[in-house]
Amino acid sequence: MNLKTFILDVPDFPTKGVIFRDITPLLKNSKALRFTENALLELLGNVKIDKVVGMESRGFFFAPMLAAKLNAGFVPVRKSGKLPGKTIQQYYDLEYGTDALEIHFDSIIKGDKVLVHDDVLATGGTAQATCRLIEKMGGEIVQCNFLLELDFLGGKEKLLNYQVKSLLHY
Ligand code: 5GP
Repeated sequence: MNLKTFILDVPDFPTKGVIFRDITPLLKNSKALRFTENALLELLGNVKIDKVVGMESRGFFFAPMLAAKLNAGFVPVRKSGKLPGKTIQQYYDLEYGTDALEIHFDSIIKGDKVLVHDDVLATGGTAQATCRLIEKMGGEIVQCNFLLELDFLGGKEKLLNYQVKSLLHY
């Protein structure tokens, strides 16, 4: 199945000059949804995973599905102030200024084998901050996987210590 036919290019979103890759056409097609889930699992291969970490908000589409299939738990990483419990924070650079990502302090146990999943790898700042949070808690990152990667933004360079795999490249 050619998944790129289910990704919509939206020019000038969220700001002028940016082409946003919209994955909602893929999500609403049952065959594409199932195909994507299986393909993401194939990227991982047959390894033991204890926790799948997904990033707010579009990482939440697939990460819990993958976790259920892997008999693993799902752990959300959220933007500052959204998680109700005690959290660990990691600051990261945005185009203008900085922001923080948070994870519940007890969501990863030392030695947990972790799969990190988000829909898109762009500049890599989100994934890098997420990996730092997981490592602060003693988790071992087995793979970072993405539905699609914007190769020209070089996000992989921020994730050199990890295995990075993406289903689609632009
Ligand atoms: P990064 O931190 O790698 O620059 O940006 C990745 C984050 O921004 C991801 O959480 C992703 O959801 C979002 N993102 C950036 N560009 C796009 C895009 O073109 N399409 C979608 N769906 N998400 C994007």
